[in-house]
Amino acid sequence: MKKNIPVCSVFSKHQGPTGEIWKCGLTPDDSYSVCALRNKCDYRTPTIDSNFQWIKEIPLKVSCFIWRAQAGRIPTVNELSKRGVYVESLTCQICEEIEECPDHTLVACSYATMVTEGILRWCRVQAGSFHKVNQILEFAAKWGSCSKRRRIFMAICYCMLWSIWKARNDRVFNNNRLPPDKVIDIVKSMSFLWVKNRGKRKELAWANWSLLSR
Ligand SMILES: [Zn+2]
Repeated sequence: MKKNIPVCSVFSKHQGPTGEIWKCGLTPDDSYSVCALRNKCDYRTPTIDSNFQWIKEIPLKVSCFIWRAQAGRIPTVNELSKRGVYVESLTCQICEEIEECPDHTLVACSYATMVTEGILRWCRVQAGSFHKVNQILEFAAKWGSCSKRRRIFMAICYCMLWSIWKARNDRVFNNNRLPPDKVIDIVKSMSFLWVKNRGKRKELAWANWSLLSR
């Protein structure tokens, strides 16, 4: 994954009254700061050969996680086992019924299904059943006729997949069993904060958020 930030957009040479000077193109006063470069990196869409949609409302690390998940590249036990890592069991860490793989953990597992159904109910979105991460992403990317609402719905879906993974890790590493209802609450509040702050929608209030999603 590349960020493709040209050096000339960060530094450029100019002729000043006393000779050559360097200017930074990231700040209004031409001064360089690590913070400005970091912001540039965070908000620049990565270059990658895929139909994957990067959404500015979603933190980069979460988008990267979703991209890796849809490509089957997250460290579920079956993937670790394929790479020669010793695992005690290949069974799903949550339902303990089927072999764990990215699509199962995030979508097909009964736990993930309960979270997904709760979020779709909250959004008042009707959908069939999903079995793969890509099915959810494609459904969200084509949902509805309003591009603004679609973008919010996509952000909620990304947040949901991320939250299911965090809940799975909490179970595996801390033996903490978070009920699906709690994960649904986390998705509602976390996606609200992301859309409000990262999407620069300062007018968005919690009460409106619930309405907006319906
Ligand atoms: Zn399972």
